[in-house]
Amino acid sequence: MARYTGAVCRLCRREDMKLFLKGERCYTDKCGYERRSYPPGQHGQSRRKKRSDYGEQLREKQKVKRIYGIAERQFRGYYHKAVRMKGVNGENLIQLLERRLDNVVYRMGFASDHAEGRQLVRHGHYTVNGKKVNIPSYLVRPGDVVAVRESSRTITRINEALAAVDRRGVPQWIDLNKDAFTGQVKQLPAREDVTLPIREQLIIELYSK
Ligand code: SF4
Repeated sequence: MARYTGAVCRLCRREDMKLFLKGERCYTDKCGYERRSYPPGQHGQSRRKKRSDYGEQLREKQKVKRIYGIAERQFRGYYHKAVRMKGVNGENLIQLLERRLDNVVYRMGFASDHAEGRQLVRHGHYTVNGKKVNIPSYLVRPGDVVAVRESSRTITRINEALAAVDRRGVPQWIDLNKDAFTGQVKQLPAREDVTLPIREQLIIELYSK
């Protein structure tokens, strides 16, 4: 799958907010957005232009794709799945993104950001209900127990991420047992569990045109 491999702090500057794409660095004064909060590029420091409705919708979609590190085709697939589900389409979309295994290991503190979560999942460092799962887009369900595999519990990156998880907090839909390197999905994530300012309705409007 095509993956963005450029400088990630540029993405925060483009979206005019911190997207927390670089793990612990995002909480330090080395944060690229804290240092230069204007858009990247030659004209970045000129006055921001007022966006059209379409421009607003497009930026919102790009922002959410970047937060979760998902390519367009797969993201659109989540939209189609969300509108087929019961409930509010925008909330369904966010819930599907939150349930991805690469996001869940990040939320549990078994990885320091989404990109690292995806890589560690791909390398087979986690289990779900006792079975190795190496598919980042795997969707967890209530009751699932996600664990760091026993042979992976000495990996420095995982231990560093776990040591820092209290700073960002564990959402209430997850029950984390740090000492056992396990976390249980207590229930499906609710909209209010995602604290980043996301206007998901704009994304639904964009795709439903
Ligand atoms: Fe964004 Fe983190 Fe870079 Fe700050 S350090 S600009 S939050 S990716």
